[in-house]
Formats: sequence, C-alpha cells, structure tokens
Amino acid sequence: MPENRSNKTMVLKGIGVSPGIAFGKAYVLDYTIANIPYYKLKDEAQAWEEITRFEKALRDSRRQLAAIKKELSDREGVEPLFIIDAHIMMLRDKKLIYNTINNIKEKRINAEWAMKLTIDRYREIFDKIEDEYLKARFSDVEYVGQRIIRNLIGRDPIRLSDVGEGAIIISRDLSPADTVQMKMENILGFATDIGGKTSHTAIVARSIGIPAVVGLERITREISSNDTVIVDGCDGFVIINPDPEVLRRYGEKKRHYEILEERLLREAKQRALTADGHRIEIGANIEFVEEIPTAVMHGAEGIGLYRTEFIYINKEQLPTEEEHFSIYRRVIEGKGIYWSTIRTFDLGGDKFMSDPRLAKEMNPVMGLRAIRFCLKEVELFKVQLRAILRASAYGKTRVLFPMISSLDEIRRVKTIFDEVREDLVRRNIPVGEDIEIGIMIEVPSAVVIADSLAREVDFFSIGTNDLIQYTLAIDRINERVTYLYDPLHPAILRLIKMVVEAAHRAGIRVAMCGEMAGEPVYTLILLGFGLDELSMNSLAIPRVKKIVREATIEESRALLDSILDLPTAEEIKKRVQDYMIRRFPDEFSGLRD
Ligand code: PEP
Ligand code: MG
Repeated sequence: MPENRSNKTMVLKGIGVSPGIAFGKAYVLDYTIANIPYYKLKDEAQAWEEITRFEKALRDSRRQLAAIKKELSDREGVEPLFIIDAHIMMLRDKKLIYNTINNIKEKRINAEWAMKLTIDRYREIFDKIEDEYLKARFSDVEYVGQRIIRNLIGRDPIRLSDVGEGAIIISRDLSPADTVQMKMENILGFATDIGGKTSHTAIVARSIGIPAVVGLERITREISSNDTVIVDGCDGFVIINPDPEVLRRYGEKKRHYEILEERLLREAKQRALTADGHRIEIGANIEFVEEIPTAVMHGAEGIGLYRTEFIYINKEQLPTEEEHFSIYRRVIEGKGIYWSTIRTFDLGGDKFMSDPRLAKEMNPVMGLRAIRFCLKEVELFKVQLRAILRASAYGKTRVLFPMISSLDEIRRVKTIFDEVREDLVRRNIPVGEDIEIGIMIEVPSAVVIADSLAREVDFFSIGTNDLIQYTLAIDRINERVTYLYDPLHPAILRLIKMVVEAAHRAGIRVAMCGEMAGEPVYTLILLGFGLDELSMNSLAIPRVKKIVREATIEESRALLDSILDLPTAEEIKKRVQDYMIRRFPDEFSGLRD
C-alpha cells in the first residue's frame, strides 16, 4: 500500500467518464506486488521445479476464478460473467504459458520473474495497438498475470467483497473480475491511473450511475487507504485530503448537481411528447447488456442501437450461436424495454477483432468492414442472424444493418435473412412475428438513393458519426481534424433532410442514432426535421426528453427553416445556440461566450 505522502490537499486532473460528485474514504486496491522476488536458477532440475510451481499457480488461479464465477452466478447482478470466462481462458492461453515457461528455461529465472517478463512483453505489444478499446484490454492480461504471481508468492487473493460502506475505489484500473465481486451499494466512486471512455471502469460506473475519473496517471502513488477524497466526474478532477474550504465548495457543487439530476430523473420516464402533442420515440445506445437498467432509469423506452461488435471484440474465439442468442434474448427481454434494435456486427473501421479474415487494411474505414465483411463471410453472418431471429421470439425486435451503400447490398442481405428465417421456421424454431428490418444511413450514397432503399426496409437509422466522416472526409478518430467535424455543416443538414423526406414519402420510420441525437442543443432542429426516433447514450436521455416536452413542433420547424439557407456552419451554429440559450436558459447557460 502506498505511504500517505502528507495530509496536504492535492488536486489531480484526469478524464471524467461518469458524471457526478462523490465524497468518501479512499480504498486503495493494490494488486501490484512491489517486490517481486528474483533469483537465478542453478540447474535444469531447478527449472523443472519452477515450471511445476508455475503450473500449480495457473491451476490455483483457474480454481479461484471459477469459484468467483460460481459465487456470482447465484447473485442477481449487473455484471458480465463472460469476462471472467475470458480471464479463465487467458489462463489457458498457450502464448502466455509458453512464453513464461521459456523464460524459466532459457533465462534460468524463477517463475515469478518469468511471469513478470511475460506481462512486460504483452505490455509492449498492446502499447503499439492504435485502437483505444483493444489497447485497454491489456489490463485484463495484467490482472491475470498478477493473480498468478500472487499465487506463486503465496499471498492471499484480495477479497473485494470486504470493501466497506462509503468507499471510493482507487486503483490502477478495474477489471470486470474486480467489479463483479464488489458490493456496489457500498461504493461511491472510482478513480484510476489508466483508462479512457471505453474502459471497463467507465462503462461500469456509467451503468450503475456513480462518478468516475480515469487516466489520472499517478493517483495510486499519491493516496493511501482512508484518505478523504472527492471525485468530480463532471470535470475530471480528484481532490485528495481537501481542506475545509474546498470541501464546502464541492459540497455546494454536489448539491447543485444532484438537485438538477434528481429533477431530470424524476421526469425521465414521462413520454417525449412535445407541448403541441407530437410524439417521438426515445431509445438508448448500448454496447453491453448490463447497461439496460441505467437506460431504463434514465427514461429509455427501447434500445435504439445495440452495437453487437463488442461481443466479438472481447473474445479470443468467435462467439457461438448460443452465446449470441443468450445475449440478444437478455436485451430483448430487458425489464422496462419495449423494443430492441440489434445492429449486426460493424467490425472493421475503428473496431477490430483478432480474426485474420479482418486483415489490417491501409484504409480500414473504407475497407472490408461491417456489412461488406458479412456478405463475404456469409456463414459467419448467418450465425448472428440465426441468433437474432431466435431471440426475436421473446419480444419486439428490430434488426439494423450497418454501412449499406447500395440497393444490391440490402437485397443480398434480405435474401440471406429470409433463408435463415425460413430454415428456422422449417425446423419449428420460434421466431418473432413482427420483426422489423432497417438500415443505417451513414454512407452518402445511401442518402442519395434513400428513395429506393426505403422501398426495401421498415425503417432507417441515421448514423451521423459515420455520415459526417464520409461526407466531409474527416477521420472521426483523428484529433487533428476534429475541428472540422461539424453536424451543423450545411451539407449534413441537407442530407438529413433528404433522408427524412425519402423515408416519409415511402411511409417508413426514420431514427437517428449517431452522437448528434444525444446533444440537447440539436434537439429542436432534429424535431424540426420530423425524425420519429432519437437514440443516444443513456445519460443524455433525461435532458433531451425535457427539451422535447417543452418544445413545439411548430417552433422546431421554424428554427430549422431559418437555418437551412444559411451558407456556413458558423452562422448556423450561432443561430441555433442563440435560440436555445434564449429559449432554455437553465439548460444552455454554459454555451454563452
Ligand atoms: C454512427 O455511425 O453514427 C453510428 C451510430 O454507428 P457507430 O458509431 O457505431 O459507427
Ligand atoms: Mg457507424
């Protein structure tokens, strides 16, 4: 455990990944073993002894994780057990095992040090990965490696179920195996050295609604268990041993935040009906089943986008049909959810898995990704379709296909979909009666031919994240061009208008599930377009719904009309912001220059 350096107030800045403010006592989770023993082995016989010790530590680690899994499977929880499975699988990983055994044999070193070298080697490999999500998976390797080392040294495994009430968990990172063991009602916040918006710590914090700051780099070195700590997940600050004045100021900030949130949450379940009676459906975008309770609490009526690629990304091997099925069934049967939109996997681009068929490409965003990949690897695609169709027997299901850029593509997709459905029906396997088929509109060519595409499907869902990227030729993850990434670019607004009009002329529904849908400052203009559904990250829902309820369709159309002819994004932004600040001063005071 790190020493308490002093009782002086210290402020650290990280990334706020789950909003809110928490005060509490630090509970420092320290898995790292400061003094890993190192010694040279005398001869081959000793090397074999070390290998035997290492193999025993592997078995012990497996047994411990299996016991954790068993304990948890009886408990009604919000956590994904498949991640513990992934850890158990990692303990069988041939590379991890051989690498360590080779270190023992060739370098003639003890098992603990050999394992440490393997972790270091993995760190080097993961450091080179560009994808933020995959990079963050190194924490799983580290977690597993450290468990093995603890077993080798004979240290007790840390018992997280002992964490007491009112704790703020401080750690290098939190793995799923950590969070499943914690009694979440005891925990007020998280603060970690590493991580980003998609790291597990962030996702869990958002799903249970506690503040979290990650990427603090050195918090585990600066704090001791029982230090008083404030976690400000809104602005990404952590304050260690705050003085009375700082405590008082944060007390006020916390109260202010909670009053606003409480008011918003209290009203979150009311329908999104404009003041002049126009109804709009509100969905949540999710990446994990565990996010559903938070989505419902924040007022989601359905799931507007379930990004299924995360089922693949977290795995060493391709998921089986049964694995897919049980996850989709949990989404579709989710308590409080009236409909679920399951998007077939959108791998490639910025989301990778380690399957060689998805080779690294020069220009992955324009490569063999999403539906293009599915149409090439049809058998793989069918596994997912069969699982979605089987799960559709359990509730209202919408299937969404990503990256459609031509009529031919959606027709081929439908042929495969029908084949799979007919096969299930022939085998008397139940499938949903009223399953809807939709496509993402996220490639400019799809906008231009939206009228023909609309005749093929039941709904559209506009993916502004990619639509902006492809239309304005701006890599959505390149921070050097983010200044050009603008949903209010006149070209983008005109494209959205074309899509909505084409859909409505054909009598189909049109949703939006890109980030633009969850920005309250755009809510009025999206209402003005006539979108039928907005789907967004759960935490954004209460605010967007509130604006919908206070707005009228008439004013939304008038605002939209007043910006469509403006020539630049700058002028449009100014007009929209001025209007929103005047109309909803409480919500948008922060936008004032
Ligand atoms: C989009 O492109 O807007 C979208 C919602 O999909 P994703 O962000 O998963 O590409
Ligand atoms: Mg997309």
